[in-house]
Amino acid sequence: MPHMGRGSRAPLTLSGHIDERPFDVAERSRLEEELYRVQRELASRTHDLARSTARFRDVIERNADAIVVVDGDGVIRFANAKARELFGGDQDDLLGTSFGFPLVSGETTEIEVRSRGSQPDYPVEQRIAEMRVVDSEWEGAAACLATLRDITERRRAEQHERQLMRENEGKANLLAVVSHDLRTPLTAIIGYAELLEMGVPEALPASAQQSVQRIRTAGRHLLYLLNELLSFARLDGGREEVRIEAIDLRDLAADVAAVMQPIADTRALRLWVRVPNEPVMVATDPDKLRQILLNLVGNAVKYTPRGEVELEIAHGEKQHVVARVRDTGVGIAAEHLARIFEPFWQVDPTQRNRDAGTGLGLSVVQRLVAMLAGTVHVTSAANAGSTFTVTLPRRLPQPPAR
Ligand code: ADP
Repeated sequence: MPHMGRGSRAPLTLSGHIDERPFDVAERSRLEEELYRVQRELASRTHDLARSTARFRDVIERNADAIVVVDGDGVIRFANAKARELFGGDQDDLLGTSFGFPLVSGETTEIEVRSRGSQPDYPVEQRIAEMRVVDSEWEGAAACLATLRDITERRRAEQHERQLMRENEGKANLLAVVSHDLRTPLTAIIGYAELLEMGVPEALPASAQQSVQRIRTAGRHLLYLLNELLSFARLDGGREEVRIEAIDLRDLAADVAAVMQPIADTRALRLWVRVPNEPVMVATDPDKLRQILLNLVGNAVKYTPRGEVELEIAHGEKQHVVARVRDTGVGIAAEHLARIFEPFWQVDPTQRNRDAGTGLGLSVVQRLVAMLAGTVHVTSAANAGSTFTVTLPRRLPQPPAR
């Protein structure tokens, strides 16, 4: 009996023994069935392939980036919707025309695209695109696939930002120059008022004394405002440098308290300094830290009509030190807390009295603290006093030499 198993190349012609018939008939129908199954499968796969090709084209067509296929002669063979938008034309304007940009496979380049639209409603506009090129093929021949991303808006935004930065720098410079130049005549005004008060060159009549005292007080306040503007401008212009020195924080706290004591004395205020018994050594910029503490204690005194202000120095966690300024004053309502560190921001800007500040004090504090690699933190509530906590590293690393 001839063997007619699967895969056998024996012809289907039936011959020979009558006994073999039943077998051959069965085999034939099995093969027919197999053939039919293969045909069906082929049809279904062809259908799937057509569908997935269509899907694939659809994905490319709708891709967020412009996609262009350029053949070996530099001619555009395919352009998706985004590419047509970028080049400002329709299929007829693009397909079959020369691409016109050098294509280096594996490279990303920036190109300037001018509209090629034949229709008048396509705006002639220059766009900037970032182009990536990979080797590919198109209808059986080698081709390049270029992906283009329109970065015109990004470039415009960057340009705008640079412009703003230049303007800001200009403003900061102006502020620095103006406040510096105003300080010189102002110091003279204050100095001569002080001399007059002291009776130089000769004693003033009692009727003039109060006026001279007012000149001096107003002058000092103006000087304080100018200094605040100046330090803000210097910080904002990035012109401050850090000069590190090792100090005992207790000495600095005593200095600050000595400066603020006369002001506290003019109010019903007690000013306390609380420090540990042993030295609290820090390697930091003492001038900047002094200004931070002067601003914070100055605010505490300014916003506490009566009660107490305490400046506390303590060892912090993990190689940090802590300076805390606590007052029993007017406090800051929860809705204002988030904004108090913003430049020129004040809870009550209408309160323009003799003590009024610039709204720059805390923004200066925040910038200085950042320069010293520290943090500043506030807890407060309306009418419940405020606590400002500054945490600084015990050792500020030396800034890189310029
Ligand atoms: P200013 O020059 O107005 O004091 P600051 O930047 O130092 O500017 O402070 C911003 C605002 O935060 C102040 O106008 C004040 O309303 C509020 N503030 C700051 N410190 C205190 C404090 N210790 N107690 C109550 N309010 C404060």
